[in-house]
Amino acid sequence: MSFASLGLIDPLLRNVQDLNYQTPTPVQAKAIPAVLSGKDVMAAAQTGTGKTAGFALPLLQRLVQHGPAVSSNRARVLVLVPTRELAEQVLQSFIAYGKGLDLRFLAAYGGVSLNPQMMKLRKGVDVLVATPGRLLDLNRQNAVQFDQVETLVLDEADRMLDLGFARELNAVFAALPAQRQTLLFSATFTDDIRAMAASLLRGPVDISVSPPNTTASRIKQWVVPVDKKNKPDLFMHLLAENHWEHALVFVKTRKGVDYLAAVLDEAGYAVDTIHGDKPQPARLRALERFKTGEVHMLVATDVAARGLDIEDLPLVINVDLPIVAQDYVHRIGRTGRAGASGVAVSLVCADEAPQLAAIEALIGQTLPREEAPGFEAEHRVPQTSATGQIIKKPKKPKKPKVPRAASSAMPVPSKKPRGKPAGMSVGGSRKPSAKRTGGRGKRQS
Ligand code: AMP
Repeated sequence: MSFASLGLIDPLLRNVQDLNYQTPTPVQAKAIPAVLSGKDVMAAAQTGTGKTAGFALPLLQRLVQHGPAVSSNRARVLVLVPTRELAEQVLQSFIAYGKGLDLRFLAAYGGVSLNPQMMKLRKGVDVLVATPGRLLDLNRQNAVQFDQVETLVLDEADRMLDLGFARELNAVFAALPAQRQTLLFSATFTDDIRAMAASLLRGPVDISVSPPNTTASRIKQWVVPVDKKNKPDLFMHLLAENHWEHALVFVKTRKGVDYLAAVLDEAGYAVDTIHGDKPQPARLRALERFKTGEVHMLVATDVAARGLDIEDLPLVINVDLPIVAQDYVHRIGRTGRAGASGVAVSLVCADEAPQLAAIEALIGQTLPREEAPGFEAEHRVPQTSATGQIIKKPKKPKKPKVPRAASSAMPVPSKKPRGKPAGMSVGGSRKPSAKRTGGRGKRQS
C-alpha cells in the first residue's frame, strides 16, 4: 500500500517522501481514509505506531480543501496533549507534514509565558496543539474561542486522565461546537477512557493496530533482580559489560536522576537529564542534545516518559519501575520503533514486586529474569505470574514444636542497627510503594 492510494494530495505526498516514509504504518492505513472522510475515530495506538501522521496528514488535507479561513483568536483543529514535550513534538510533526501549505500552527503549554502565545493567536491558527490547563487559561483571557473548532484530537487520552486533567477536559468539551469531528488516541483503554469515548464520539471508526496494553514483540525485554542499594553499581556494570553507550534511562525521582547523571558523568559518559523541576527550555535542549547525539545518555523521570519522539533508540533502561503499569508500556515504546529492534531492561528490587506483577498482568506476559553475577539479590524478588499474582514461596515445612524452655534459649535474630546508612540507593529516601500519584510525571498546566 502507498500513501498515494490513501487519497492524500500531492504536497502532502511530497512531504512524506522527503521524510523517507515508504509505506503507511497500519494505524495510518486505517486512520487516514477515515479522517479524510470526516468520520470520528477511536484508536488504540501506542506511541511509535505513526499515529501522529495518522491524524495530522488527513487533517492538513481537510484544512486546505474545506472550510473558511480561520478568524482572529480562533483555531480550526484543536489537538489536546498531556505534556509540553508532546505538544512541541506534535507541533513539529504538523510543521513537517504541512510544509509548503499556507497554514498556521501553534503549540500552547504551561511553564512559559502566556504573552507570546496570545500574540500568535491574534491572527488565528489553523492547528492549535495545547495542554488542557494552558488552553483554558488562554480561553479565560479571551485569547482563544472555540466556536470555529472543526476537529478535536485527544492525543494520549489515557495519559491526560492519569495526570488528573478530567475537569479541564470536560470544561473544554463543554465549550466546543456540538457539530465537529473528534479523534481519540489512547495507548490503553480503561473504563474511564471508554466512558469518555462514548460521550464524545459519534459512530467512530474503531482502530486497533496492536492489542491495547501489549508491548511490541520486537522489543527484547527482561528484568534483572537486584537489591535496591546495588542498583547504581549494577547499572554501571551492565553498561560496561554490554558496551551500551546510548540509552534512555528512567529513574523514579528527580534526586535519583541527578545522582545517576553525576555517576555517568564521572564515568565519562556524555549525559543530560529531563525532569519536571527543570525549566522548560533546558528540558527541550536536553532532548535535542540527545536526539542529535551530542549526549549519549538521557536520564529522565516519568515526565519524559510519553511522547518523546526519538528515532532508532536501541535501549531503554528502567533503573526504577514506574508506579503505574501503563507507564512501562509508554516508556519502552521509545525503542523498537518503525521495525527496528530494541532492548528494554528493568532493574527490579524486592519492593517493586507489586509493580512488576501489575506490569506483567498488563502486557500479558511474564518478563524473563536474568540475574547478573555478583549482583544477586539478597532480598529475593518474588515470582510473579502474567495474571498479576505474586507467587508466594512455598511454605517451609513446620518445625516440630519444641518445649518452651528450649525455644526461649534459641538465639534471637538481632534487629538492624538504627540509622545505618542506606547505601547508594537511587533516589535516596524512596519508600517501597508510594501513592498512585507519587512519582508520576507532573501535569502540564
Ligand atoms: P508516532 O507514533 O507518531 O510518535 O511516530 C513514531 C515515529 O515513526 C516517528 O519518528 C515518525 O517520524 C515515524 N514514522 C511515522 N510514520 C512513518 C512511516 N510511514 N514510515 C516510517 N516512519 C514513520
